[in-house]
Amino acid sequence: MPQADNSASTLFIDGEWVPAADGRTRQIICPADGQLVTTVSEAGAADTERAIAVARRAYEDGAWSGTSAWDRGDLLLRVADILVRDKAEYARAESLDTGKRLVESEYDMDDIAACFRYFGKLAGQDAGRLVDTGSPDAISRVQHEPVGVCGMITPWNFPLLQVAWKVAPALAAGNTFILKPSELTPSTAILLMKTLAEAGMPAGVGNLVTGTGAEAGQPLAEHPDIDLVSFTGGLHTGRKISALAAPTVKKVALELGGKNPNVVFADSDFDTAVDFALMAIFLHSGQVCSAGARLIVQDEMHDALVDEIVRRAEQIRIGGPFDSEAETGPLISPEHLRKVDDYVQEAVAEGGVLRTGGKRPEGERFANGHYYLPTVIDEVQQGSYAVIEESFGPVLTVERFTDEDDAVRIANDTHYGLAGGVFTSDPAKAQRVANRLRHGTVWINDFHPYLPQAEWGGHKQSGIGRELGRAGLGEYQEAKHVYQNLRPGPQHWFSEK
Ligand code: NDP
Repeated sequence: MPQADNSASTLFIDGEWVPAADGRTRQIICPADGQLVTTVSEAGAADTERAIAVARRAYEDGAWSGTSAWDRGDLLLRVADILVRDKAEYARAESLDTGKRLVESEYDMDDIAACFRYFGKLAGQDAGRLVDTGSPDAISRVQHEPVGVCGMITPWNFPLLQVAWKVAPALAAGNTFILKPSELTPSTAILLMKTLAEAGMPAGVGNLVTGTGAEAGQPLAEHPDIDLVSFTGGLHTGRKISALAAPTVKKVALELGGKNPNVVFADSDFDTAVDFALMAIFLHSGQVCSAGARLIVQDEMHDALVDEIVRRAEQIRIGGPFDSEAETGPLISPEHLRKVDDYVQEAVAEGGVLRTGGKRPEGERFANGHYYLPTVIDEVQQGSYAVIEESFGPVLTVERFTDEDDAVRIANDTHYGLAGGVFTSDPAKAQRVANRLRHGTVWINDFHPYLPQAEWGGHKQSGIGRELGRAGLGEYQEAKHVYQNLRPGPQHWFSEK
């Protein structure tokens, strides 16, 4: 069973565990109680550049890109089996790094194994297609090839899940990669590299650098030997990655934030709407890119719905990852806690009505963690800071609408477009609204489920490209057209003099 490495040799380069070239390390601290979790190597640009050279060599030698896609799929299936075998170890490491409840980390591990299984089965199913040339004397096909060397940069909220969404399709397609997880939550990425090696991944194919975005991450966007940079994180960083990647015209895949509407019509089942509104925003203390942070509720149901959401929000039990009574946990860091609180103060200053929360919970057991109370801010206005900006915390804002057109207009009035929910008992209305929402995922009478076989990604400024599904594999493939003339001979395009 893999163990998180405490010896601070946590860079995985060319199949070896090595320290940072300059010997720097970083302590990983549990956000729930401030305890030291582990110490990891702090990579600098030189470490990442070495990893890029290794991944380039491993790509060019064809030991992975030249294998059959079926064999690559088999490796992913073995990875899924090991993830199931070592689920408890992985889940514990994820909870210590993020502070999230153990049970949620366990759900995540199931989803991660399912992701590897999905791409393991998809690999080799679609090598390309024959194209009708219109002539018996020519044959033409479009074949799928790996993109090459992939740089992957991932955030802290679902650390290994976000990694899996990139690593599994990249390996299925035959690429080599360098992964840079969030500096705050590297433990499960370290475990994954051990699992990949155990499953038989050749040395140099997958490489890991633990460190900051500015130092260890940036070369993955800038370096000419990176063919694709795939980034999940905030909009501001995504814009920066895009700009850094532009001079080398590499492929850029971006999964960015969201300001996700949850539209509740007055004909919805009341208890269901309450329950899902709470889960949509307060799951993992709102640190979810698809969190239903904007409740958009029809006038007739507004007062009763908001009263009940406030009453229930005040009962949510907060605690650490191993507290079996806890229903939600801490925020990731003191900086993030401050950011969430600043957001709330700004929302209230511009006229939002604070119905509950808006501060840290009181009590000794919360003193060393970054906890924040579930917060509800009513009567926020379209175009206001509270509606435009992501809080990425346990903060629900409430807007009202009159009719269907009004609901769609308000829900689409954001530069983000990641996900949204619609609650109604009228199936035809649900479909009409779903079709008009400019968001990459729409849930009807539900919130948050996703499937590895269905594409995930953002409209508008929520991103570029898709993860999961067939398109998620396509991100890591190049299409090549191969045309063969079966009866070659002079064409006499130019006359002979
Ligand atoms: P950030 O954008 O701050 O960081 C994401 C990753 O980018 C981290 O690994 C970070 O490194 C790295 N990074 C930062 N600066 C650079 C740089 N100059 N060059 C290269 N890499 C860099 O996001 P957070 O980690 O704060 O995550 C939260 C955000 O992610 C939210 O906005 C959320 O909406 C979004 N998100 C989107 C998802 C989606 O599927 N659309 C899923 C999950 C989150 P470092 O370790 O130094 O922070």
